[in-house]
Amino acid sequence: MHVLVLGSGQLARMMSLAGAPLNIEISAFDVNSKNVVHPLTQAVIGHGLEQAIEKADVITAEFEHIPHDVLAVCERSGKFLPSTDSIKAGGDRRLEKALLDNAGVRNAKYTVINTREDFDTAIAHVGIPMVLKSALGGYDGKGQWRLKNAEDAEKIWPEMAECIAASNNQAIVAEEFVPFDREVSLVGARSKNGEVAVYPLAENVHVNGVLSLSTAIDAPELQEQAKEMFAAVANSLDYVGVLALEFFDVQGTLLVNEIAPRVHNSGHWTQQGAETCQFENHLRAVCGMPLGSTNLVRETSMINILGEDSLPESLLAMEGCHIHWYGKEKRPGRKMGHINVTADYHGELVRKLCELAEVLDPVAFPAVQEVAKQFKS
Ligand code: AMP
Repeated sequence: MHVLVLGSGQLARMMSLAGAPLNIEISAFDVNSKNVVHPLTQAVIGHGLEQAIEKADVITAEFEHIPHDVLAVCERSGKFLPSTDSIKAGGDRRLEKALLDNAGVRNAKYTVINTREDFDTAIAHVGIPMVLKSALGGYDGKGQWRLKNAEDAEKIWPEMAECIAASNNQAIVAEEFVPFDREVSLVGARSKNGEVAVYPLAENVHVNGVLSLSTAIDAPELQEQAKEMFAAVANSLDYVGVLALEFFDVQGTLLVNEIAPRVHNSGHWTQQGAETCQFENHLRAVCGMPLGSTNLVRETSMINILGEDSLPESLLAMEGCHIHWYGKEKRPGRKMGHINVTADYHGELVRKLCELAEVLDPVAFPAVQEVAKQFKS
């Protein structure tokens, strides 16, 4: 099988690594350079999307911000999965919110802002405090504002107006501020025949809007809620592939924050912690193969490596510590790789995270330091 992935970042890279044992070959389309590249080496292996589409058995995507003309060509080939509508919904908060509402899935109250009058309507309808998010192009907390009191509306409006005017079809989604206890996510897969398999929930710690630490958790009641919401969203899209739902946990009730129609950073722990990793399951689904077991095999945490391109070698000697580099050039804050840490039981996992906190840079790995601090207090 030959799968063409739209996007040539770390997710295509990890799909390639997971696909090899099943004889699934991956090539990646870099939407910026418009080259077809090898997902591991980034070497150019083809020019032009049309030719790559022709050669592929299946086309899928590793991110949602894909130019719509590229999606249209892929759609016409009849080879694209999950579906171009799913990708578009993941890349536009207006479509995403409408999708959640139509699927009957709980999410934060919202309105859409195009004009200054809409902003007033949002303040009346959604209330303060409020979170404002650009409808298009926002990720990892980018393109967001917080409104904590009505007087600040005048202060932030010029920036919001500029954002709306900067690109065609842009708007702002105003959302009620959710006083959540924690953030969790559910990654799962839906096959061509509608079978759904979800992984255990992951608890996620974000720092400055970027995922820092993700730990698989055992929370049966939340898991049940999350699975139901996952199935509602996936079935409503007739989804095929891996899908991620990010939630706010508000005193045991889950609200969807956002969806990602693809393999997800909070599912990287499955590489060491689950029977079948998310990358393999995505490929199995889109290639029409049976899904692999999503059972947890070991307690696992994933730590993102942000803006660093080296780590103490001693980490490799630590039992259960697995480093995954993405082969990217170093830039401040950039996702450069991740560490999966596994253990036989939860206490041991926490002990290992404390051990890591001793050797990892506290600025680059704040969430691990926090775990260690809490454990010691
Ligand atoms: P997002 O880009 O929507 O994932 O938002 C980035 C982060 O901002 C989330 O992971 C939350 O920590 C926070 N956040 C987003 N929306 C809300 C909300 N409605 N209420 C409270 N916090 C939020």
